[in-house]
Amino acid sequence: MDRPTATVQPSLLQAHFESSVDGQYVLDPETDVFVKVNPALCELLGFTREQLVEARQPVGTMSIIHEDDREVVRTQRASARNPGDSGVMRFRAVRSDGDVRHLEVRFTLILHSGRVLQVGSARDVSEQVKLEHKLRTESDFNRELTLAAQRAAKDAQRKSLEVLEANTRVGALAEVLRAIPLLTKRLLELEQINDVFKEAALTMVNDAQFSSCVVMLKDQWGELEVKYANPFRNTQKLRQQENEVYQGVLQGKMPLAVDATGTHVAPIRSGTEVRGLLQVGLPKNLQRFYASHKPIQESIKDLIMTIADFLGVVIQNHENLDRIKQQSRQDRLTTLFNRRVFDEQLVVEFRRALRYERDLSLLILDIDDFKKVNDTWGHQQGDRVLEQVAALLKVSFRDLDTVCRYGGEEVCVIMPETVGEAARVKGEQIRRKISEIEIPLLDEPGKVIGVTVSVGLACMNKGTTTEDQLLRAADKALYYCKHNGKNQVRLAEDGDFF
Ligand code: GH3
Ligand code: MG
Ligand code: MG
Repeated sequence: MDRPTATVQPSLLQAHFESSVDGQYVLDPETDVFVKVNPALCELLGFTREQLVEARQPVGTMSIIHEDDREVVRTQRASARNPGDSGVMRFRAVRSDGDVRHLEVRFTLILHSGRVLQVGSARDVSEQVKLEHKLRTESDFNRELTLAAQRAAKDAQRKSLEVLEANTRVGALAEVLRAIPLLTKRLLELEQINDVFKEAALTMVNDAQFSSCVVMLKDQWGELEVKYANPFRNTQKLRQQENEVYQGVLQGKMPLAVDATGTHVAPIRSGTEVRGLLQVGLPKNLQRFYASHKPIQESIKDLIMTIADFLGVVIQNHENLDRIKQQSRQDRLTTLFNRRVFDEQLVVEFRRALRYERDLSLLILDIDDFKKVNDTWGHQQGDRVLEQVAALLKVSFRDLDTVCRYGGEEVCVIMPETVGEAARVKGEQIRRKISEIEIPLLDEPGKVIGVTVSVGLACMNKGTTTEDQLLRAADKALYYCKHNGKNQVRLAEDGDFF
């Protein structure tokens, strides 16, 4: 059976070829010369049929192809060699007027009169290529734009999260700063100074959320001693660390030091004297913000310095209070306990002895003829005598005993757990020691004077019901000494209690 094309009139084919809107051609690949071209192809390439086909030296197709695309076309042609092979190519053609067009060529190889010819059609796809290029660059641009937008959004999100967290931190710190008056009030109410250190360190970690807080004070040798550490750490290690890092602060040269890990160290000062250090550790999540967020830095430094300053004030307050307490219990001249302590302590010891049926002795000592000392050598000399007698008394009794200046040149000693005879021996020993003291004369260097004392003693017995009874009995024994030659010791007898 004949193929359908065979039935088509050659003149019709010719007409189709001539009038086709696509460029049509027949090419001899071997010579690279067109065998046949239609007007549309001539139009496309900007050459006449004469130039392309009929001239003695027709224009070779390769010379029309843009030099950058020739290699592609050559490769394509080389891959299609046999009749029936076909292909599609895109390349740029340079028209005779220099204009460059993008062409799309579809071709098939046929065998005609023993020669392999290329039959093809060409179409101007310049607009399409331009459009594709535009689309491609636009989509690239859009993709870039999208990625950039995504990056920016991520960045902004991260930043806003950071700012949010920073603000939260600042907020929390501000909260703590606001709470400082309350905290300090609470700390002021604590009686024990060590409780103040503990409470301050706990607050810094639990409320202000610092990672650690250590209160260190100088001991009497100037060495730092950890008073409270939260969390508890090896104190020896701490001590070494501060010696290297915090000397500046300790010597009062810096108001605050921050080391590489964000650990803050502020001086604890009483007046101008640095008494110790407050060391506060920064938690890891705060360390990130610390460098870049000034408000956080300032808040933290403020807070730490405020607490350190406050601790300094509290330490001083406690010391003042201790001193006042001590002073209110002490006699200024002799530094023995005063009458107030004697009265209080006698009640305490008497009740204890009564309840637990323990021994209790009371000693009253009075310097003999003390008025004469004053009258002969002056009041100042009298004071020296009192001081020296008191100094001897201070070291002559047990810690358990309470040695008090009762008034004038009289000293009372409360002696718990002491029975009458032991008390008498003790009294005798004291009397002898005092009589042996040589007191330098203020007015006559090199010369000394001496004094004697009379000692009255009373020991609690079954009949003693009040401390006054004990006191009166001891006084009566003393009175007895005074009337029987002085410079002696007497233990009150049962009859002396009334
Ligand atoms: P007696 O042996 O009887 O105890 O005689 P006395 O002179 O020691 O006793 P008197 O009570 O007559 O005098 C006590 C004196 O102690 C009178 C007073 O001026 C003196 N005196 C009291 N307190 C002080 C003081 O703080 N310093 C000095 N220098 N003298 C004092
Ligand atoms: Mg006297
Ligand atoms: Mg007296």
